[in-house]
Amino acid sequence: MTSPATLYGRVAVITGGASGIGRATALLFAQQGARVFVGDYRLKPESEQALAAQGICASNCDVRNVCELQRLIDHAATTSGRLDILVNNAGIGMVKQIHDVSEADWDNCLDTNFKAAFFGAKFAIPHLIRSGGGSIVNTASNAGLLPRAHDPVYSISKMALIGLTKSLALCHAKDRIRVNAVCPGPVGDTGMMNADLDASIDRAATEQLFIAASPLAQAFGRMSRPSEIAAAILYLVSDAACMVTGTAIAIDGGKSLGVPPNC
Ligand code: NAD
Repeated sequence: MTSPATLYGRVAVITGGASGIGRATALLFAQQGARVFVGDYRLKPESEQALAAQGICASNCDVRNVCELQRLIDHAATTSGRLDILVNNAGIGMVKQIHDVSEADWDNCLDTNFKAAFFGAKFAIPHLIRSGGGSIVNTASNAGLLPRAHDPVYSISKMALIGLTKSLALCHAKDRIRVNAVCPGPVGDTGMMNADLDASIDRAATEQLFIAASPLAQAFGRMSRPSEIAAAILYLVSDAACMVTGTAIAIDGGKSLGVPPNC
């Protein structure tokens, strides 16, 4: 059980906070007492209002644009007088085989899923050091832990993100900055999953395939929920994880363990 004030007095920036995992994380952090700044390039008035109702400051930010990313992070730190947490969560999927991948596809996926996390960390670290330390969490993926045939560029972007996580964790432990990653398996009720299901011929059958890929998802008869990923991110940024750094936590219902029974 976490106390109601786990993040009291902390200031957090979350990218990709308009929907899915980022939104669930922003709401949980705010509930736990943090001052939260969300950046997203697809803010809808209704989601902006729902975030504002919880005291969350949401602004337009395309994380592929390093100037916009720096503005988001600097604004949070300067208006609050400190920065404690960065969650590099914005991400896009890319289901294409190598022969179909254009240079623009590659840049779009790598810039969103990987470059933005590198530069987000670069801009946040000086503020975190001034605040006496802090925490960075990168939303990677199950695809960063095990090779996947259907989305090589996405997998590369998430494997690179895990590499960045470990490298920065080593470099900045001396600054009391912890850097970790979460690696979700299929998560329902997210923009990314809905896009995959909408693109499929048979939505219900495709959903069952996602569930069948994880032993625990099979056991519960459902995918993970955004709130379950948010809970892991909360743990990683909290004082309870003060000795945890460089990890890539699988929250995938056991999908990355190996071949499940009866397959
Ligand atoms: P989502 O689509 O609901 O959320 C992604 C958010 O990122 C959206 O609000 C989107 O507008 C934002 N975003 C995308 N590109 C951006 C950009 N250039 N600048 C600013 N914002 C941008 O999906 P989600 O599942 O909540 O995705 C969050 C993270 O979780 C992603 O990094 C994704 O790769 C990862 N993930 C998701 C799943 C899943 O099954 N949904 C599984 C593993 C990992």
